[in-house]
Amino acid sequence: MLQHQTTYLIALLTAAAVDGALFHVAWLRRPAGGHGFAVLMAAAFLYSAGYAGTLVSATAAARIWWAALEYLGLAAAAPAWVMTAAGTVKRGRFLTRRLAVTLCFIPAASLLLYYTNGYHHLYYGAVSMAPPGPLALISHTRGPWYWVFAVYVLASLLLGNVLYAGKRRRERGAARRQAGALLAASLVPWAAVLAYFPGERILDPGPLALSVTGLAFGWIFLRRDSPAVITRDSVFQGIREGVLVLDTQNRIVDFNSAARTVIAGLAPQALGRPVKEVLHDQPELLRQLVAPECDQTELQLPLGRGLRCYQSRLSILENRRHQVIGKAVILCDVTRETWRVDELQARARMDALTGIFNRRYLLELGHRELERARPGGRPFSVVLIDIDHFKDVNDTYGHSAGDLVLKSVVRTCAGALRSRDLMGRWGGEEFVLILPGASPDGALAVAERARKNIAGSVVSLDNTTTVSVTASFGVAGVAAPESGTSLEKLLEMADQALYRAKNSGRNRVVLSRD
Ligand code: GH3
Ligand code: MG
Ligand code: MG
Repeated sequence: MLQHQTTYLIALLTAAAVDGALFHVAWLRRPAGGHGFAVLMAAAFLYSAGYAGTLVSATAAARIWWAALEYLGLAAAAPAWVMTAAGTVKRGRFLTRRLAVTLCFIPAASLLLYYTNGYHHLYYGAVSMAPPGPLALISHTRGPWYWVFAVYVLASLLLGNVLYAGKRRRERGAARRQAGALLAASLVPWAAVLAYFPGERILDPGPLALSVTGLAFGWIFLRRDSPAVITRDSVFQGIREGVLVLDTQNRIVDFNSAARTVIAGLAPQALGRPVKEVLHDQPELLRQLVAPECDQTELQLPLGRGLRCYQSRLSILENRRHQVIGKAVILCDVTRETWRVDELQARARMDALTGIFNRRYLLELGHRELERARPGGRPFSVVLIDIDHFKDVNDTYGHSAGDLVLKSVVRTCAGALRSRDLMGRWGGEEFVLILPGASPDGALAVAERARKNIAGSVVSLDNTTTVSVTASFGVAGVAAPESGTSLEKLLEMADQALYRAKNSGRNRVVLSRD
């Protein structure tokens, strides 16, 4: 064996070992290049190992077997090369399943023709085997399909270069430098092509070149801090907001993983399909996507067993010449914020101490109820309540004891109300009841019941101290609201009645007779 042939064989076996190791790590890690890089390295391993096998085979049969293995590697390497580049540039989205199948068609046909060459000689013309011995080569003339496959391999090689070059042009900073390194590494196999294709009977430098490229790719892809992992696309995929991109004909162009969680029905098969078909069962979302009334709206979408609230924002996408090329919908989960707003709103309507409506909200509800009673001419009454000598409770037992009494009075009074009645704190130790559907006499009865309950109850301040209070009531109402009837007027009448109740001895109910 000649010295340079031995050196080549050692280099080839080293390349096979490197390819195998890179395949192993890439398969475990699934780096930025996705499966493509792992498959590429598996193919490169078969290519190198198969080639080495043919060189050391002692028999023709063994040599043919190894050559078949080598060829399998070469055939798989070309589509894997494109898949690696596509996976790096767009993290797998560039390659639809259909395109992947198309990419594999020519290698598969080539393999078939290569293995059955004896029957048709479409791949190789005359095949002659050099005499067995170390580093013997299979010599052959090239048939028509050989050239089809050769063009395919070169085109794949070039497509990979173009994809890396495009990525380099688009990216900035570290990602740009890295794309530049990928481009440079992807040019290495061209050296082997230029050396081998002219047809000299030399040892194929292809496996060595592929291994060098594989090492460079591996160095870039498999480092954990690789900027390939932090590309624009990984930001697109990684953000919490769901993003869905449509073209001008409302076909789905792209979406990120968050959008898949938010929108049921989004799957890779939806790419390229009209959004109206894909999301036909989500009319509210569809309207916002296809015929939005404004570019920002709130949507409720089901997630699991519950509903979640999303703020949907629409952005029109333009190209560099400011032509509209589509739109992007961003869905931001605002469920928690919505709850918080609801909670704040609810709190803003309540009195913090007693838990009943505050004056402002009670007035709002009162107006609403009076307007409801008006068309049907239904009765409507209000009651004003003031605790008697409440200042004395505070002065005798302290302010917190006074608070306990206020809460207790509210509870007791609420026990005398019907489910439609409303109660609010008017201020201090004064309360208002709104009684829709209650005539003045009916309201008088409710107030009398509440008065008795309050007067009859005892509030325990601690284990030894109890306190009882009474309250005075002013009632005003109408059997049927007239045009001049207003809530303010009724409250004023109730206030005057309450004044009379106070003046005539307290702990009593007075009905306004105005
Ligand atoms: P009258 O029978 O004439 O109504 O006598 P009154 O003492 O109840 O009347 P006044 O309006 O003089 O006193 C009301 C008192 O209510 C004064 C105020 O300190 C007390 N008060 C108002 N708001 C609160 C509160 O939130 N907690 C407590 N503990 N006391 C309050
Ligand atoms: Mg008062
Ligand atoms: Mg009072």
